[in-house]
Order: sequence, then structure tokens, then C-alpha cells
Amino acid sequence: MQTLLRTLKSLHLRIFLVIIMSFLVPTIAITAGFLKLYESRQIQSDISSVNSIAMSLNTQIATTGYLQDPSLDFLNAEFTALANAYSGRIMVMDSSLVVVSDTYGVDQGKTMLWRNVVQAANGSGNSYYDRSGNNLIVAVPIPALASLADTQKKTTISKGSLGNDTEPVDVSDEESSVLGVLLVVKSASYISQNIAFMTDVSWEVILISIIVSLAFALLCSSHMTMRLKKIAAGIRQAQEEAQTSLPLVGYTEAVDISEAFNAYHTKMQDMDESRNEFVSNVSHELKTPLASIKVLADSINSMGDAAPIEMYREFMGDITSEIDRENNVINDLLSLVKLDRSGVNMNISSVVMNDMMESLLKRLRPLAENSQVELVLESFRPVIAEVDETKLTLALMNLVENGIKYNHDGGYVHVSLNSDHQYCYIRVEDSGMGIPADSIDRIFERFFRVDKSHSREIGGTGLGLAITSNVIKLHHGEIRVSSEVDHGTTFDVRLPLRYIEKEDLA
Ligand code: ADP
Repeated sequence: MQTLLRTLKSLHLRIFLVIIMSFLVPTIAITAGFLKLYESRQIQSDISSVNSIAMSLNTQIATTGYLQDPSLDFLNAEFTALANAYSGRIMVMDSSLVVVSDTYGVDQGKTMLWRNVVQAANGSGNSYYDRSGNNLIVAVPIPALASLADTQKKTTISKGSLGNDTEPVDVSDEESSVLGVLLVVKSASYISQNIAFMTDVSWEVILISIIVSLAFALLCSSHMTMRLKKIAAGIRQAQEEAQTSLPLVGYTEAVDISEAFNAYHTKMQDMDESRNEFVSNVSHELKTPLASIKVLADSINSMGDAAPIEMYREFMGDITSEIDRENNVINDLLSLVKLDRSGVNMNISSVVMNDMMESLLKRLRPLAENSQVELVLESFRPVIAEVDETKLTLALMNLVENGIKYNHDGGYVHVSLNSDHQYCYIRVEDSGMGIPADSIDRIFERFFRVDKSHSREIGGTGLGLAITSNVIKLHHGEIRVSSEVDHGTTFDVRLPLRYIEKEDLA
């Protein structure tokens, strides 16, 4: 059942059916249309030829007074010859619709009240194709001599009406000028024979086109879906062998799918690698302080009672600072994990950025003074922005703190705040050691540090800028960095004044 459903839904089957249909439907429609057209054209041309012969006979009937004297041999001979040629029948009726002459010789003297004959007696020549009897029947009024010429013009026959009694297309208003009616019946069996023959040929054509379209459809559908099957096989292989990528061959859509998969695959590989790297970095960062603590504790223990109290104090101080470091790493990791989760809870409110920056710098001033770094805030205008104050404070603190940490004695950190009608701009500029060009692209990576030992010495975890960049992303803002070694670093942050929900952005 499952396999049947899969087959029914498959692209292979759909392409196959579309190709077959696109062959068969036009073939059948064209052949059927052709047969229909042939039939109607043939009937039309026959009717018009019968009609013109009937007109000429009518002239003779009218001029010779045949209706009064139906024994005129030459006309009777003509009727018989024509009836034979048509494999049909010719009847002449007078104005009272009494049969004057009948080539079958059976209806003379009878009154013919047949609808088409009555219409012709009223001046409306008509014709129709009697499909069941396989005959063409033409009824033509016989006009009086005086109006003969005129009647010849006016009497027309309906065209193209097959199988039904025709609607008269022209009715003479001179009923009194009609002397009688000439009824010509012509066998149309040759038309049906031709149609039967052509139908046979058509079936052969349709059969051939079925065979050709089947072969063509099978070939095309297999060829068109082959690339997709190869892509599916490639994806399955990629699950087992991480390095596999799909070749960019085949038709455009297949290349697009392969390209999209390769991009996705590379991204997944990168994510996998960065996760492994992250895990190993985390364990390394957590193990290092623990190892130091163990070394310190072991050395004190090994000394036993011989260790002086000053040494105890010094070692205990070192152990405490290692514990602080471990604590910092854990806190930073927790902040980062919280920010990384999708659906981070943003606590947005309208914040006076000037006040926020003021209090942020106030908290860092002791650190700056300790490092003999000048810390200056320059506010160009009052700025109010919709932000998560706690998260943004943490992010900007990291920038200012780095400016202080990676600085020289007597250096400075300038923080400026500005805005336009749409964005708030924060610049943190320091005169510190700068970041080498080959590291600048990596400083937002977790645990990346330009100089590991120096960063560690000054209490860095390597997570600060990763947290900053995450927070700014959550505010749909941007952060840029420019730096020159030994001259200083500038971080430029741009935040929208109005917080935009993710759905609004889409
Ligand atoms: P850390 O906790 O080590 O400071 P960060 O993620 O904050 O980690 O910074 C990553 C690295 O980028 C730092 O170790 C440092 O090498 C470099 N860095 C960051 N800010 C500055 C700066 N203002 N001046 C010089 N180097 C910086």
C-alpha cells in the first residue's frame, strides 16, 4: 500500500503521464476533428451540387409544363438517370403537394405532407443529412416562369446541418409563384464508407502514437528523475561520510538543490566543529583554574607544619583568585547560553541611554583609576531607545572594560553617545594595544583571545565580546570594530531606537 502510494505520488509517474497525455490528447483531438470536418465539407459540397442540378431541372419542369403533363419522356429519362447516378430517388410534387412523378414509381398520386416538402412549397428550399438512412435530402421549390429568375436567386439551402431537419434560411414571400416541389434524395453511403476507412487509419495512427509516446515518456521521465535520485543517494552518503558534497551537474533546478544542500551541509559541519571546539574550550577553561588550585593545595599540604603562615595566606589568596576566575567563566558561560537560546526573553523598555551610560561608566571608574586610564563620556544629545537595559548594560560594559583592560598606563577610553531619527550610535574608543589585523575577524568568537596568557592574567574569559555581539544581534543592531596595533581600538555600535519584534522584520 505504502509503495503504491509512493508510486502514485512520484514525479516519475507524473512526468510519464503528462508526456503521454501531451501526445495522445492532441492526436485524438486532431483525428476526430479531421473526420468531422471531412464529413461536413463533403456533405456541404454534395448539397450545393445537388441543389444546382435541382435548379436546372426546375427550370425545365417550369418551362415544359411538366407538372401538367408528366409524361414528358426526356425529363423522366433525365430524372431516372440522375436518380441512378445518385443511387437515390427523385420526386416531383405540384403546388397541392400531390406527387406527379417518382423515380421509385410508388408514390404517384399521393399527397406528400412531409415537413420539408411543405416548407419548400412555401418557397423555402431546404436540405438535410439523414444520418440513419445515410441520405442527403434536398427539397427545392419549382418557381413559376415569371418569377423563375428571381426565385433562382432567392431559393437557398441551409448549409452544414447534419442529421436534423434544417431551418430554412430564406423564405420566399411569393407563395403563389411556387408551382410545386422537386425532392432529390442522394445516397451518402460513400461518405460513411470513407469515414469508416479514415477511422480505421486514425486508430492505427493513435496506436502508433501510443507506442511512441509510451517509449518517449518512459525515457524522459527516467532521465528527468535520475538526477533527483542521484541527489537523494548523495545526501544519504553525506550522512555517513561527512566530507561528501553533491556534484553541481544536471539541469538548473537539480544544480540549485545540490548547491543549497552543499551550503547547508557545510554550515552543519561548521556548527559541528564549532560545538566540538566550544566543548573542548569550556572543559579547558574550567580545568585550568582547578589544576592551579590543586597544585597550590598540594604544595601547601606537602610542606605540612613547616609552611609559614605568610605562605599559607599567599597560597590561599591565589586559590581564591583561581576560584574567582572559575566563577567568572561559569557566569559568562551561563550568560552566553541564556542569550544563545532561541526565544530569549527580551525585557524591552524605553531607556534614557545617557543615564544608562553614565551609571555604566560610574561602575567602571574604579577599574579605570586603578589602571590609570582616563574614562570620558561624551553625550551629543539626549537619547531614548527601546532596549533591554540589563542585557545592553552587560554588552557595553564588556566593551568599555576591554578598553580599560587592554590599555597602557596613562591611556584613555572615550565613550560617545549620539543618535539620529532612527538609530542610536555608541562609540567606544581606546588608546590601548590594538588588535592585530589577522585576529580582528575572530574576536567575537567564543574563547578567542589575541594573547591568551595576557588575557588570562587580567582576568579575561574570552567570552565577553561573544556576549556583546549576541546582545546587539538580539536588538537587531550592528557592531563594527577597527583597530591599529599599539594605537588603539574603536568599537562602533548602532541600535535601532525602536525595538522591532522578529515577526515585524519578516
Ligand atoms: P576577554 O575576556 O579575554 O577580554 P573578549 O571576548 O572580551 O574576551 O575579547 C576577546 C579578545 O579580543 C581579548 O582577549 C583581546 O585579545 C581582544 N580585545 C578585545 N577588546 C580589545 C581592545 N579594546 N583592545 C585590544 N584587544 C581587545
